[in-house]
Amino acid sequence: MRQTLVAGNWKMNGSKDSITALLDGIEQGLDAVNSNTEVAVCAPAIYLPLVAEQMNGTIVKWGGQTLSKEASGAFTGEIAASMLLDFGCEYAIVGHSERRSLYGETDQDVADKYAAARAAGLKPILCVGELLEERESGDTENVVARQLDAIIDQEGVEALADGVIAYEPVWAIGTGKTASPEQAQEVHAFIRGRVAEKNADVAEKVQILYGGSMNAGNAADLIGQTDIDGGLIGGASLKPEDFLTICKA
Ligand code: PEP
Repeated sequence: MRQTLVAGNWKMNGSKDSITALLDGIEQGLDAVNSNTEVAVCAPAIYLPLVAEQMNGTIVKWGGQTLSKEASGAFTGEIAASMLLDFGCEYAIVGHSERRSLYGETDQDVADKYAAARAAGLKPILCVGELLEERESGDTENVVARQLDAIIDQEGVEALADGVIAYEPVWAIGTGKTASPEQAQEVHAFIRGRVAEKNADVAEKVQILYGGSMNAGNAADLIGQTDIDGGLIGGASLKPEDFLTICKA
């Protein structure tokens, strides 16, 4: 049976004080989280030492929000997989739609970052998902397949077993418009089916999260779907009560 994973993506939010308070709030509610649920937070890199210090010894894991595809060297401003590991990270988000749209990350960049994370022993959380116009023109499956195939073609389908997939319809991210459980399940089943065409074992094992305005009110219905193994949570992960309610869903 696949474990449920609820991962917060804090994006570029927080301060030392607010993050300390957020982590305190999360820590206080962890006892009520089911033991089959993994909890993680992906923090702005500069706050990872703070997260590591506060969450060490709890069930909460942590990760970066992106990473460099390079191992080290003259890449000003970049953060290597080994640096994330140095601060105890377990996860690294790759291919978030904000990185794709605002920073021009291509499928090839995402595949390279996936490879860099995996090679270092981090679990990449690979984000895939369509724009609104792509959904409206019936291209959702083509887009998601292309983004998935970028990893499969370069790294082999087995590489997916070392990471997590997050289906995040771009039109649902930060907009308050959530995909319905049926809409999300349809794409999750498509993703699992596509992986299964290459390797049924990997398809059975790989966790596929939903992301896009998941909140305390809709999480249970979404996570209750057969192929939805948890959530990647933006806005609601900044509020401890909401994040914990999702973890308990
Ligand atoms: C995200 O950025 O990954 C995300 C899902 O954001 P939100 O929950 O705010 O839509």
